[in-house]
Amino acid sequence: MALRVGVIGGGQLARMMIAPAVELGIDIRVLAEDEGMSAQLAATAVGDYRDLDTVRRFAADVDVITFDHEHVPQEVLRALVADGVAVHPGPDALRFAQDKLDMRARLADLGAPQPDWARVADVGELQTFLDAHGGRGVVKTPRGGYDGKGVRVVSAAEEAADWFSGLADGDALLVEELVPFVRELAQQVARRPNGESVSYPVVETVQKGGVCAEVIAPAPGVDAEHLAEAARIGREIAEGLGVTGMLAVELFQTEDGRILVNELAMRPHNSGHWSQDGAVTGQFEQHLRAVADLPLGETTPHADWSVMINILGGPADAGMLDRVPAALAASPQAKVHTYGKAPRPGRKVGHVNASGSDLDTVLAEARAAADAFA
Ligand code: ADP
Repeated sequence: MALRVGVIGGGQLARMMIAPAVELGIDIRVLAEDEGMSAQLAATAVGDYRDLDTVRRFAADVDVITFDHEHVPQEVLRALVADGVAVHPGPDALRFAQDKLDMRARLADLGAPQPDWARVADVGELQTFLDAHGGRGVVKTPRGGYDGKGVRVVSAAEEAADWFSGLADGDALLVEELVPFVRELAQQVARRPNGESVSYPVVETVQKGGVCAEVIAPAPGVDAEHLAEAARIGREIAEGLGVTGMLAVELFQTEDGRILVNELAMRPHNSGHWSQDGAVTGQFEQHLRAVADLPLGETTPHADWSVMINILGGPADAGMLDRVPAALAASPQAKVHTYGKAPRPGRKVGHVNASGSDLDTVLAEARAAADAFA
C-alpha cells in the first residue's frame, strides 16, 4: 500500500506537492477549505481545519499529517498527536511559526541573531521601546499576519492604539527595532523526524508592497562565510525547535554585514519555488520526503543562477490561463506554474522559474514570461 500523506489546506503549496507525490508513489490527500481550491485534484475532503472532528476524520485515513499553512489550532494538533497520529511539523515546533512573540522568545533562548524586540501590552510600553530605539519601530500582531498584513512601521505609539484596543485580555503586541537592512534573504532547511537535515543555498527575496515579488538563487554576492552562517542559523533553528519538513528562515542582511532572523515558516515557502526547476530536489518533493521520514534529496542547484518571479492577479475578469501560451512563447527557457486560482488584483496566482549561467539573461527570460501575465 502506498504511503498516505494528508495535507491540511488546499492552497498552492498543497497543489505543488501533488506532482512529486505522484512521482514518488505517495498517496497524497488534501483537506481543502472549500470546493475548487488550488489543490482540488488531491482534495479528498472539504471542511474546516479548526474543527477537531473534521480533522480527525481526515487524519484517520492517512499515515502522516502535514500542512499547506500554519493556521491549524494548537488544540487540534495536540489532540491528533494524543490520538497517535504522526504530525509533521508537530505542535511543539509549529507554535513558533504561529506566534511571533513565542518565536522571538525561543530564538533568544537559542542565541539566534535577531532584531531588538519587546512584548508590549499597551501604548505606554510601546512608547518606552520606541524612545529607546530612535523613536521608530515595527509593530506586529503576533498571530495571523501574512504578506505584510499585521506589520506596521510606527514613529509614535499612538499609531498602534487601534491594535491595542483590539487585544484580548492578557494578549500583547510584538515590537521590533526598525532594521536598516540592505536586502532580505531566506534560508531553507529540510529535516526528517530522525534528525537528518539538508540545507539549500541562501537566496535573495525581493519584496514589493509587502509581497514577495522575485527570488534569486543563490543570493548574489554572498561570500562563503555568509553562506555558511545562514546555513548554520537555519540548521540550528531546525534542530533547536525540532522542526520536521521544510523550514524557511526569513533573514535581513544589514549594512555592516550582519544577518538577523525576521521570521519562520514551517512548510514549503515562496522563497523556495525556484528549486522546483533549479535544484536536484525541489522543496515540495523534499517536504514530502522529510515528513514521510524518507531519505532526503540533494539540494545542489542545476545551474549557476535560478530566478523565480511571482505572477500577481490583474483585473478580476482576466482569464489567467488564456495568457499561458503567450508566456510560453515569450520565453521557451522559463517554466510556468499556475495555481488554478481566480485572478484578483495583487493575489499570487502563479510563478515563473528560469535557470542558467548568466544572471542577467536568466532574469530577462523569467521577466519576459512573467510580463505576459501583466
Ligand atoms: P509577514 O508575516 O506579513 O510576512 P513579516 O514579519 O515578514 O510579516 O514582515 C513583512 C515585511 O516587513 C518584511 O518582509 C520586511 O520587509 C518588513 N519588516 C518586518 N520586520 C521588520 C523590521 N524589524 N525592520 C525592518 N523591516 C521589517
